[in-house]
Amino acid sequence: MKYIYIANWKMNLSFTQSIDFCEDNFILLQELSNNATVVLCPSFVALASLATKLKNSSIAIGAQNCSEYETGAYTGEVSALSLAQVGTAYCIVGHSEQRMYHNETTEKIIKKIKLLYHYNINPVLCIGETYDDLINNQTHTVLANQLTPILIAIAQEKNDKKNIIVAYEPLWSIGTGMIPEPQQLVTIFAYLAQLIPTILPDYSVQLLYGGSVQKNNSVTLKKNPYINGFLIGNASINFKEFSAIIIN
Ligand code: PEP
Repeated sequence: MKYIYIANWKMNLSFTQSIDFCEDNFILLQELSNNATVVLCPSFVALASLATKLKNSSIAIGAQNCSEYETGAYTGEVSALSLAQVGTAYCIVGHSEQRMYHNETTEKIIKKIKLLYHYNINPVLCIGETYDDLINNQTHTVLANQLTPILIAIAQEKNDKKNIIVAYEPLWSIGTGMIPEPQQLVTIFAYLAQLIPTILPDYSVQLLYGGSVQKNNSVTLKKNPYINGFLIGNASINFKEFSAIIIN
């Protein structure tokens, strides 16, 4: 399984900056994506332009979100169908910022994932505990509570894709520079690697880590045998930093 690097640009790069990032670094990005899966997630307005630019490359495009509805009068929403039509291969769902600021509930996440699978887009399901959960030894319980209903809903659907990507992103680590201790991370990922196949036995599972991944900690993180890739926020908007994480 190729290591996967997903750049979550959030609202940090403007339309023009997103285009420039790809144009300025196209050849190097191409090289980096020979041995790894590289996914760029710009804001919605840049998706179609980037997808067109990267059409004949091995660099993939992802969305940061999608609507839980298929079509209709939902002002401000973007459908999975539209994402698919412009060439989106991945879509982040359940990100803590969506859960926090836009009331992204388990029910919404399930609807989104079903639509994404239907339109042949890989959902990237984010889960993670708060700092309070961590210090109260609730991490495993919180992760199981977040994951289980979603995995059960996926198991009940007919789906040819049979691949699930889960990004473990502790909330206290996002944007803070703090990451879990290596041994703590091995325990958490071992738990996820054991839990997911109990509900989705015939799925291949890709487990990602997200939260303050930087070139200075990526080598240590890559030693974790359960981690198949990273979801990268701040460090992904700087090409030097992003490429160093991939090369390291
Ligand atoms: C994220 O928000 O998905 C993320 C991983 O952010 P950062 O790398 O900036 O912590």
